[in-house]
Amino acid sequence: MEKIHTTCVYCGCGCGLFLHVEGDRVVGASPSPGHPLSRGRLCIKGWLAGEFVGHPDRLRYPLIKRGDRRVRATWDEALSLVRDRFLKVKEAYGPDAIAVLTSAKGTNEENFMLMKLARAVLKTNNVDHVARLCHAPTVAGLSYAIGSGAMTNPIESLLESEAIMVVGSNTTEQHPMVAATILEAQSRGAELLVFDPRRTQIAAQADIHLTPAPGTDVAWINGLLNVIIEEELIDEVFIRGRTQGFELVKEAASCYTPEVVESITGIPPHLLRAAALSYGAAEAASIVYAMGITQHTAGTDNVQALANLALATGNLGREGTGIYPLRGHQNVQGACDMGALPDLLPGYQKVSDPRKIETFEEAWSVDLPRAPGLTAVEILEAAEEGSIKAIYISGENPLMSYPDRDSVYKALKALDLLVVADIFPTETTRLAHVVLPVASFAEKDGTFTSTERRIQLISKAVSPPGEALSELDVIFDLMKRLGAPYRSLSPAEVMEEIASLNPHYGGIRYRRLGIDGLQWPCPDEDHPGTGILHREAFPIGRARFRPVFQKELHESPDEDYPFLLITGRTLYHFHSGSMTRRTSLLDREVPGPVVDVNPDDAGRLRIRSRQRVVIESRRGRLEVEARIDPGLMPGILYLPFHFSEAPANALTARALDPASRIPAFKISAVSMRRA
Ligand code: SF4
Repeated sequence: MEKIHTTCVYCGCGCGLFLHVEGDRVVGASPSPGHPLSRGRLCIKGWLAGEFVGHPDRLRYPLIKRGDRRVRATWDEALSLVRDRFLKVKEAYGPDAIAVLTSAKGTNEENFMLMKLARAVLKTNNVDHVARLCHAPTVAGLSYAIGSGAMTNPIESLLESEAIMVVGSNTTEQHPMVAATILEAQSRGAELLVFDPRRTQIAAQADIHLTPAPGTDVAWINGLLNVIIEEELIDEVFIRGRTQGFELVKEAASCYTPEVVESITGIPPHLLRAAALSYGAAEAASIVYAMGITQHTAGTDNVQALANLALATGNLGREGTGIYPLRGHQNVQGACDMGALPDLLPGYQKVSDPRKIETFEEAWSVDLPRAPGLTAVEILEAAEEGSIKAIYISGENPLMSYPDRDSVYKALKALDLLVVADIFPTETTRLAHVVLPVASFAEKDGTFTSTERRIQLISKAVSPPGEALSELDVIFDLMKRLGAPYRSLSPAEVMEEIASLNPHYGGIRYRRLGIDGLQWPCPDEDHPGTGILHREAFPIGRARFRPVFQKELHESPDEDYPFLLITGRTLYHFHSGSMTRRTSLLDREVPGPVVDVNPDDAGRLRIRSRQRVVIESRRGRLEVEARIDPGLMPGILYLPFHFSEAPANALTARALDPASRIPAFKISAVSMRRA
């Protein structure tokens, strides 16, 4: 048996693991003792990461739509059809009738080349990916406030914190290695403050657990700042020396006294004060957050409010301080770094900056489109309206993961060309004109960038099944068929091209990565990588405060729809479940969907545990089993979005945050009754 070192395929922690290989089959996985974050540990998903690789459902050969069926085709037939339809759409409607959705499950090299395919070959900036649905407010909010949308410190820096705020993150289930580090810090004396409407496992461990009403985050974060200012716990030297705009934020915070905050959020004033004193008085304090903060129409304001708090207390640029946005997919950070975004080139260089775009034009010997493209949700809206005619989707399943499923279905059905590259059949491949079978993480070389900016190798352990190919090879083939003059490159050579165009990756070479990887910024080949950002200065000079105010929710409970539905994930499954539902132990642990209901609500509606209920919103309805959860606030329901039997996104709305265009997945007004 051979053991091949690689990186876990699931969450953004990016744990190191070995795949165990016998013959040409993955037969198991085990942790990598030398990995800097996971240090010989894995969560249940990591231990089982190799199981789906050999599943009989894997896509083995290209498929083409004939009538209502998808029939087997050769690679030549499939890619010729893709080329012909792309060219036809481009000629009839222009390049902006085409869009490319890259994959946060794909490698950096695949994301970079798909981005290049969109911009340099198809000539559109309509390129985006699933970060739009999880951390677009982080990219927008933190880039504005501190000049970089990435996690500021390595995860192990949490061990030096005296106080850790965990906000809108079910950390033990979604980022288990981060949770392990937080709990280790707590056992060494750090105070753990958790803000979540649900009593999650980490909330149960907290020194203080506050349960704000969903969608009221700006109010309580401003409330913390209000108390910190009143108690003179702000860091005046830091504010004077490294920031701008504090006075306006101070004025805004003055409106949010603990009593006002209670009236908006339901948080008792004494608990808000206790949390503020804990964070404000700590020598080093950190903020960890996830999609409970970002997936709102005020997502960017929420992120700015957290940045205001960290800046006002000088909690940036040192060990034990920092802001830690937890990225969901294993390579969502990398897909953003690679410029798979409609307004940003690799390294967050603006499409609208003529000097930046000229650098890329020179490197690729082409003219590039200059107007920012559409975001992921806008692409589907445009498809429904008829202005987007062709979409290439890499490894995403929008029918399960995008809001308002009915509209997504109509959008995909309306296309002249839907190409989906994936490893398994999904709800979305069933609508595709062309399905391209591609290699899984165990069948290719490349890199993933973890949530702590750590660029790490993945290594080919086994061959792809049937005729499936590495997606990088597919992209190069398609580029050539579309007439682009680019030669095929190995993943290591693609990384050299990335390094030449993305200054943060300037010093990244495969031979340097080893088991530890390297954290960007790593500007040249002699640079050791960067753990803590912003030690001396921010990339924008002075960090920017910005006052933010609590806004109305896009949808509030009313007589017809009296509950607020929160959607999310569980420990045992990942996103639309295509991999974890094909992993026997994980599927056995959680074989199907349940909606969590507060006991008082359940009693009032005479709903018992395991009884089927109908949940309905203004967009759709579904039927699902109920589970009574005393850890949930009254009036709130919680439904994971992994399960096609009860697709949570049949209920969610397309209401978008104006700054980052993220949909408000965390807030949907719904009704519930016994089925
Ligand atoms: Fe994989 Fe995340 Fe679990 Fe680590 S914590 S083993 S990266 S799923």
